[in-house]
Amino acid sequence: MARKKIPAAIQDKILTECRRRCALCFALNNDVSAKVQGQIAHIDRNPENGDASNLAYLCLEHASLYDTVSRQSKAFTPGELTVYKETLLLVLRVAHDPHRIHLVVAELYLKIIAELAEEARQEQKKNKIRPKRKG
Ligand SMILES: [Zn+2]
Repeated sequence: MARKKIPAAIQDKILTECRRRCALCFALNNDVSAKVQGQIAHIDRNPENGDASNLAYLCLEHASLYDTVSRQSKAFTPGELTVYKETLLLVLRVAHDPHRIHLVVAELYLKIIAELAEEARQEQKKNKIRPKRKG
């Protein structure tokens, strides 16, 4: 599969929003130091999907580890990397401007509420399709 080039504007967004911090170094080692050498990884491991939400900056070591899916060891999952990336970005935003922490928390709170509401809607839909019988 040919690797599609990520547009420069999207690369800039990914690199600047994390300020070259590796999402896995942060999540696994509490390491928020800049990794000047790194790569932009495709979270779903599909090089055709260049959407910003599917991209994460990783140091060279972790980029290589992320791309290696071994039978012997449990690979990092796309869901796991997404959470690590989002948490890192949240921490960086607060670190950059601690006076705005209440806005970051409010934003996170609204996101969680929206996710819970969506889960409830899906659950309701499922129950309508397959009503549970009692007795
Ligand atoms: Zn790393």
